[in-house]
Amino acid sequence: MSIEVRNVTKLFGNFAALKDVSLTVPSGELVALLGPSGSGKTTLLRIIAGLETPDEGSVHFDGEDATARNPRDRRVGFVFQHYALFRQMTVFDNVAFGLRVKPRVERPSPAEIAERVHELLALVQLERLSGRHPSQLSGGQRQRVALARALAVQPKILLLDEPFGALDAKVRQELRRWLRRLHDEIGITSVFVTHDQDEALEVADRVAVLHEGRVEQEGSPEEVYNHPASPFVFHFLGNVNLFHGRIEGGTMHVGEFSLELPKGTQADAASAVAYARPHLLDIDHTPLPGRPHFRATIRHINAAGPIVRVELATGSGGIVHAELPQERYRVLGLQRGAEVYVSVKDMKVFTGPHGASGAGI
Ligand code: ATP
Repeated sequence: MSIEVRNVTKLFGNFAALKDVSLTVPSGELVALLGPSGSGKTTLLRIIAGLETPDEGSVHFDGEDATARNPRDRRVGFVFQHYALFRQMTVFDNVAFGLRVKPRVERPSPAEIAERVHELLALVQLERLSGRHPSQLSGGQRQRVALARALAVQPKILLLDEPFGALDAKVRQELRRWLRRLHDEIGITSVFVTHDQDEALEVADRVAVLHEGRVEQEGSPEEVYNHPASPFVFHFLGNVNLFHGRIEGGTMHVGEFSLELPKGTQADAASAVAYARPHLLDIDHTPLPGRPHFRATIRHINAAGPIVRVELATGSGGIVHAELPQERYRVLGLQRGAEVYVSVKDMKVFTGPHGASGAGI
């Protein structure tokens, strides 16, 4: 089932938690709502679930207006950060609960319920633990039970609010891969809330980045990471180097270097900022012709892991970060204290206070 949120505004008193938000989730996709604390992610999820009513705008399921529809009639499964399992019930009974409380005419027989619960427990790989109580499970196992319980009533849409938020980093990583595989298996339209950019980029088909109640950008993980629409998205989705300068006659002048901008993309500006991710900086012992470059001194090298992180100081005292593959690092034989040339493979320039206009090179 597809979801379409159209121009939704939600007020709490005078405070607008969502401002004219529109979002489309195609049927069968897994979409992440990503943003910092307070950006409106949970409010948007609750509006899709029908647990909050928008002040303006509408929510459509498969093209039908569902804004006034009761949450119980929306066929939505919800998984919260805190597992909220029934403590006095076994894993089996927790998963069976939603089926057993259905009105008599819709309720499956006990044998059908047992079959469905076993299927779901197999899906979340917890069959062996069906007789345990929640207190006898790890956090990750409890969250998988919560997911099986949400799926038991065969929802058309699955909504997950920071489903792995309370778990430690290693378990989170395992569970997000598992969620991706599970989603590929069952193909249910899913929306999950996270403030963890790695989680969103790794798991989701599409990512909506929220900031102060607005969708700042929406696109595939590759689009939002490689082509951020605003300085906020740039910062939020990973490390970035900032170069402050000015634009004159199609050239951006930064203290250390000049950068030719694509024709017609940028008007003159007294203040502009160029953004470049660390892996888009290269280091060499001699300047590379044809690329903007500047001199810098290596201050620190972290060579643990597949990517080598190098911290450099520019002539004017600014700090920049570069990331190189191990192989390139070894070929260059970089040492702390060495004077090198840093060249910029790609960057994006924003002018204006909110980065209203941007151009890549
Ligand atoms: P977090 O990651 O911290 O959960 P979030 O992005 O999910 O944040 P929301 O929970 O949607 O953010 O809240 C958005 C804003 O709306 C916040 O500033 C919050 O304080 C406010 N808010 C949310 N619910 C209410 C409410 N019931 N009454 C008043 N303000 C609310």
